[in-house]
Amino acid sequence: MDMRTLYQEIILDHAKDAEGSGLREPFQAEVSHVNPTCGDEIRLRAQLQDDQLVDVSYQVLGCRICMASASMMCEQVVGRSVQDALSRYDAMLAMMRSRGADEPDAELLGDAVALAGIAKMPARVKCALLGWGAMRDAVNQATPQEDP
Ligand code: ZN
Repeated sequence: MDMRTLYQEIILDHAKDAEGSGLREPFQAEVSHVNPTCGDEIRLRAQLQDDQLVDVSYQVLGCRICMASASMMCEQVVGRSVQDALSRYDAMLAMMRSRGADEPDAELLGDAVALAGIAKMPARVKCALLGWGAMRDAVNQATPQEDP
C-alpha cells in the first residue's frame, strides 16, 4: 500500500467513525464556525479543568475532509494541557500553509499527517482547518484572561 492510499484510508476511517463527535455537557465555551467556500459548518464545545482540555465535543455538517480533520483534532488535543493543544493547532496550521513543502510533525499531529496532501489543494485547506480553528477559538474563550 503506498502512502497516498494509506492516507486516504485514514481520512475515510475518521470521517466514518468520528472521534469525539456529538455535543456534550458540561462545557465552558461553545463556538460556531463556517467555511463558506465548501459549506462546512461546525459547532464545537470545550471544557477545561485547571489547565487541561478535558473535553472537546462537536457537531459537523460538512464534507469528509472537514469531518475527518475534526476527528483527528479531537484525538490530538483532548486530555492535553491548553498550551500543548494550542501548539498542535500551530503545527496543523504550519502544515496546511506549507503547501506540502515541509515534513509534517507526526508527533504533534498524529493521524492528521494524513491531511498533508490537502495542503496542496488550496480550495480544501479551509475544510481541514475548520475544526482546529474552532477548537482554538473555544479554548481561548474558555481560558480565564489574566489581569494585566
Ligand atoms: Zn469542506
